Amino acid sequence: MLVRLIYISYSNTEMSDENIKQILDKSKINNSAKKVTGLLLYSDRYFFQCLEGERRDVNQTYLRIAADPRHSKCVLIDYSEVNSRLFPTWSMNFVAFSGSDNEMVLRYSENGLFQPYDFSAGQANAFLLEVANAIAISNRTEEKPKSLLAWFKD
Ligand code: FAD
Repeated sequence: MLVRLIYISYSNTEMSDENIKQILDKSKINNSAKKVTGLLLYSDRYFFQCLEGERRDVNQTYLRIAADPRHSKCVLIDYSEVNSRLFPTWSMNFVAFSGSDNEMVLRYSENGLFQPYDFSAGQANAFLLEVANAIAISNRTEEKPKSLLAWFKD
């Protein structure tokens, strides 16, 4: 049974590129082994992650992540059975962006700030899809989307 899990957390320190790289390197190894796929977003010390895969593998991965001392305040936003994956080829794609003055964020925020703890499950899924589409377009056109600061492809 395939499931999709979305959670938010808050980084315990400002994350450097090297800190993020360590997380991604480990994620890609572990997730590939379990066929877990997804997307990790980072903005203003918020993490926003989607994990997809077999229920047992997603649950185990989430429990491991939630116990990680590099972040805290994990809140599960959505957990659903799904027929297909949103990110079938991404063992863990990563996007960093600025939460303020960002037209993508503006559509999901009443005050223009990125406040993912306020997201409903529907908003979280819609936001993830929008980011994924922006990445897909940029991959086709080789042009960096204005709303995203940095991203690493698989
Ligand atoms: P090891 O890498 O050997 O780690 C052993 C223990 O040390 C674990 O408890 C680990 O959390 C802790 N640890 C490792 N490095 C550090 C460090 N630099 N600082 C403090 N403690 C550390 N893992 C995945 O497999 N898939 C993911 O998609 C994924 N996403 C993540 C997203 C976020 C926001 C964060 C913070 C972490 C994520 N991780 C992910 C990492 C995850 O939390 C575990 O650290 C990792 O899965 C443990 O891998 P391991 O079992 O091989 O143990």
